[in-house]
Amino acid sequence: MSAPTLEAGLDDEQLAAVTAPRGPVCVLAGAGTGKTRTITRRIAHLASTGHVAPGQVLAVTFTARAAGEMRTRLRALGVPGVQARTFHAAALRQLRYFWPRVVGGPQWQLLDGKLRLVGQAAARAKAGTDAASLRDFASEIEWAKASLLTPDGYAAAVAKLRRETPGPVEQVVAVYAGYEALKNRAEMLDFDDLLLHTAAALEEHSGVAEEFRDRYRCFVVDEYQDVTPLQQRVLDAWLGERDDLTVVGDANQTIYTFAGASPRHLLEFPRRFPEAVVVRLQRDYRSTPQVVAAANTLIGAARGRVAGSRLQLVGQLPPGPDPDFTEHDDEPAEAAAVAKKIARMVADGTQASEIAVLFRINAQSEVYEQALTEVGVPYQVRGGERFFQRAEVRRAMIAIRSAGPVDAPLVDAVRAVLGPVGLTAEPPSGAQQRAQWESLLAIVELAEELVAVEPAADLPRFAAELETRADAAHPPTVQGVTLASLHAAKGLEWDVVFLVGLVDGTLPIQHADGDDEAIEEERRLLYVGITRARRQLALSWALSRQPGGPRRRRRSRFLYGLIPDEHPASRIANGGRGASKPRCRVCGSPLIGTDALKLRRCGDCPSDVDVELLDRLRGWRADEAKEQQVPAYVVFTDATLTAIAEHRPADTASLVRIPGIGARKLDRYGEAVLGLVAESGS
Ligand code: ATP
Ligand code: MG
Repeated sequence: MSAPTLEAGLDDEQLAAVTAPRGPVCVLAGAGTGKTRTITRRIAHLASTGHVAPGQVLAVTFTARAAGEMRTRLRALGVPGVQARTFHAAALRQLRYFWPRVVGGPQWQLLDGKLRLVGQAAARAKAGTDAASLRDFASEIEWAKASLLTPDGYAAAVAKLRRETPGPVEQVVAVYAGYEALKNRAEMLDFDDLLLHTAAALEEHSGVAEEFRDRYRCFVVDEYQDVTPLQQRVLDAWLGERDDLTVVGDANQTIYTFAGASPRHLLEFPRRFPEAVVVRLQRDYRSTPQVVAAANTLIGAARGRVAGSRLQLVGQLPPGPDPDFTEHDDEPAEAAAVAKKIARMVADGTQASEIAVLFRINAQSEVYEQALTEVGVPYQVRGGERFFQRAEVRRAMIAIRSAGPVDAPLVDAVRAVLGPVGLTAEPPSGAQQRAQWESLLAIVELAEELVAVEPAADLPRFAAELETRADAAHPPTVQGVTLASLHAAKGLEWDVVFLVGLVDGTLPIQHADGDDEAIEEERRLLYVGITRARRQLALSWALSRQPGGPRRRRRSRFLYGLIPDEHPASRIANGGRGASKPRCRVCGSPLIGTDALKLRRCGDCPSDVDVELLDRLRGWRADEAKEQQVPAYVVFTDATLTAIAEHRPADTASLVRIPGIGARKLDRYGEAVLGLVAESGS
């Protein structure tokens, strides 16, 4: 493929990153600005200009799915043969290869879930062995290993971090040490061991390191903001003394710090490699200005460590609909309403695969699975990595592998072979049969994809391709609405995104309460969710879990400032219904609990707001809006007004530092706002 095609469809900054000479490159940029596109093109560029052979590039992505998509895109750009994998998959391969030299003997098996061994270790340590305790111990062990802490170093480290531990520290240490001992005795490896052993093999065996470094010359890491110290150690072992490393990431999408990840490596990259080419991207090519505005508002209110690195996104697409906010009585009603909207969209011609329903925790999926089944819309639950384990898919693969030569184009041949497995011409009606049929159709689509890049591909070639994908856990896109957790949605995009279950206690999740950094991570999760939408965003919440249950839930605190004042949902939640109930003087939500009633604000709403100033600002805004005949939020959003009342800017310079106040607003309202602040200052 020639260079001009590779460079087409890139803006100047993206191009600078793509064409930078070999060596360290760092792209620090917000969601939808083309980071993944940029690194894919960079690999293709380096390969096509002969700087490096495709086989010498190792691209690391966050999920198996992302890795698969990158391979597909690279193949389409004319550079097959690049290794695109997750850290774990790459390490697994390397370890298998180097095992005879660094350990010898039979290869240790991969542990399929650690709960059983953790349970044994917990029993011996006389710790809790109920399901919840075991899960907590298991995640704590994962965190410790990702943070490069051994059982010996654990106690000192958590003391220093003031980390809350899932039990008395000595007990956690005993469970951790016991688990390691049991696992090693059984000659098993867990996922983190893959990384630890790979790093150790390269660090301690110069022959192994030499061979590896001769084989891989150039490294690329996507979603680098979520790298753990353990992954970084593997990356350093891969690199050795070299610096041929491109990283891209967005600190504001850091959503795995609970698992030990840290944006530090991304943010400090330019310091570690002073000669690095550093590129910042701000143009958002994914989403409409409406979606971008919501994202900017949400992240503009971020505080704490990561917030300093936020960037304002600038939408590049034509305008679309405003985000939609809806309050429901209970969860099943919310799910039914979402399913109904989806069914209507699909009937109106939107592809089901261009719609996603995203939630905070996997347990929220089920009610949406039911609701979608009821309206007859197909869906897939992400974490769809299990695709290749489905019975019909296994049957299909066997049929394809064992088919005799078929004298027809590949796609027709595949259809013919899958007929007896259940691929009828028309979709069957039952939900279960329909799902199986969709899987088979997805296999046909894979054949279409393959023929597009390899016109001569035949059935045996396709069978091999399916094996490769199954090994790499890279499932095809199944026609259907995606149901996924916000964590699993990272890096992906859809035309329409439903963000559901947005109540306090779910997003932010209950256990984040009282921990400012944890709350900020929850905010970033919602930011990831919002920025997945290309065109249409629907946000919803329910006041009660069960039909007829107490309507005690409060919509997510993060929505405050996103919902325009004039919006119907905002009226519902801000006083339209049950207006006699006491409400928060900062955000307007109903007050729950005696503390909140005393404070006259929600516990987590900003406490240092000058309430009197806020009232005056609101009054001024109402007049201003009436005069201009626009909704109040067009003048300033609630979030901006609150920020003003919090920071009490004394001059223009401090006023523009407040998110939501650009040059135009400054020109128009700066004087009036500063006047109000000054007046109320005495
Ligand atoms: P995230 O932070 O969510 O991972 P990202 O920065 O990796 O986002 P991409 O997924 O690479 O963003 O790109 C977002 C969308 O914008 C994609 O659909 C991509 O094809 C498109 N895009 C990227 N750059 C351009 C460009 N220069 N012109 C047109 N479209 C672009
Ligand atoms: Mg990306």
